[in-house]
Amino acid sequence: MSFCQVLSRSVRQVALRSYSAQAATSNGYNFQLNETQLEMQDLARKFTKEEIIPVAAEYDRTGKYPWDIVKKAWSLGLLNGHIPQHCGGMSLGTFDSCVVGEEFAYGCTGIGNAIGTTNIGQMPVIIAGNKEQQKKYLGRLIEEPLVAAYCVTEPGAGSDVSGVRTRAEKKGDEWILNGTKMWITNGGVANWYFVLARTNPDPKAPSSKAFTGFIVERDFKGVSPGRKEINMGQRASDTRMVTFEDVRIPKENVLIGEGAGFKIAMGAFDKTRPPVACGAVGLAKRCLDEATKYALERKAFGVPIAEHQAVAFMLADMAIGIETARLAWMKAAWAVDNGQNNTLLASIAKCHAADVANKCATDAVQIFGGCGFNTEYPVEKLMRDAKIYQIYEGTAQIQRVIISRAILTEAKQGGH
Ligand SMILES: Cc1cc2nc3c(=O)[nH]c(=O)nc-3n(C[C@H](O)[C@H](O)[C@H](O)COP(=O)(O)OP(=O)(O)OC[C@H]3O[C@@H](n4cnc5c(N)ncnc54)[C@H](O)[C@@H]3O)c2cc1C
Repeated sequence: MSFCQVLSRSVRQVALRSYSAQAATSNGYNFQLNETQLEMQDLARKFTKEEIIPVAAEYDRTGKYPWDIVKKAWSLGLLNGHIPQHCGGMSLGTFDSCVVGEEFAYGCTGIGNAIGTTNIGQMPVIIAGNKEQQKKYLGRLIEEPLVAAYCVTEPGAGSDVSGVRTRAEKKGDEWILNGTKMWITNGGVANWYFVLARTNPDPKAPSSKAFTGFIVERDFKGVSPGRKEINMGQRASDTRMVTFEDVRIPKENVLIGEGAGFKIAMGAFDKTRPPVACGAVGLAKRCLDEATKYALERKAFGVPIAEHQAVAFMLADMAIGIETARLAWMKAAWAVDNGQNNTLLASIAKCHAADVANKCATDAVQIFGGCGFNTEYPVEKLMRDAKIYQIYEGTAQIQRVIISRAILTEAKQGGH
């Protein structure tokens, strides 16, 4: 009997039954998941074992978007948990999404990304949408297994978001959107996009006022996703250029108002960087498990290679990285769920987890020796998949810019 058949109740029912303020308990430190989170973790783990791991290599090879898996996850309530209850969601926190996301990532970060990236597209609507916008666009994702995408990066502007050149001009009750976005995850499969566009043509206008955020439907005339990009890793995820040519957007699809876009686009990261960090941790844990298993089986110089201290210490370093990176995403997610400013914590978590994932993947390949370099074994995929964590959602360098700025600002203000 499959996991789906065994499952007698969905995550949705579990969560609605017992999700309560207990997750938000701030009575000192607490390192335990609550009952609901443990159940969600268990479901996600079984789903990963039965639905993701067996097909991960095939999706990596073909680069096909895993619609079947996305639909199954959706039907079990493993998708969209954070959507507000008034739109039919569960109003779960970032922490809860991360608990589930780490499990998916353990199975395959390409498929995990295909399942999870809709959250990044939705986040601007969650943090800045009015009730009508939320009901229409988030509610749609609850009613049907559809996904959203986040369109900020362009061919000429990635880290430097102020360099965005896509522009929107107001004409009567509509906005006319023109421009090209690049590297958009879910670009070819999304039902709607969050799009950041310049609305103040004055080059001297401050970023905080020059950009506006729009909800743009895939079916609006003039929206054209490009070909699927062939990336180094996370190949099941759909990455494309998306072009907007004289797209007419009703004024009802502006988030907050003219000029509010930059803050919305950047503000979303507080809630989306912890989930990226948890994905990197899931991948790192998979590296540790695969490498440990291999080190106990493979013999060299008459003993399992795990008995050579140089190998065992690589495993130890992996465990150290995983534990600290997990605690970092947990704290960043917990902080934002509790209404605290977590920008610094989210950057620390994302940056550290990405570096840990890359170190663990490189060391896992090392422990596998020649086999590590070969596609018949699981770790070369892990190494290819890991790299992107140091690039998307703000590169490793940009996270360090954010972290160092925060340190220096605090020091200049006299420390604490
Ligand atoms: C697979 C994939 C999926 C993606 N998904 C999305 C998505 O869904 N939506 C979206 O909007 N974008 C997405 N992106 C884009 C991603 O966020 C950008 O690629 C990333 O922010 C880096 O921008 P860039 O590629 O233009 O590099 P650049 O900004 O050109 O940076 C190049 C190098 O210079 C460094 N650098 C730049 N500025 C500084 C600085 N001030 N200090 C120190 N170093 C610096 C960078 O760290 C990097 O090493 C995705 C990218 C990929 C590859």
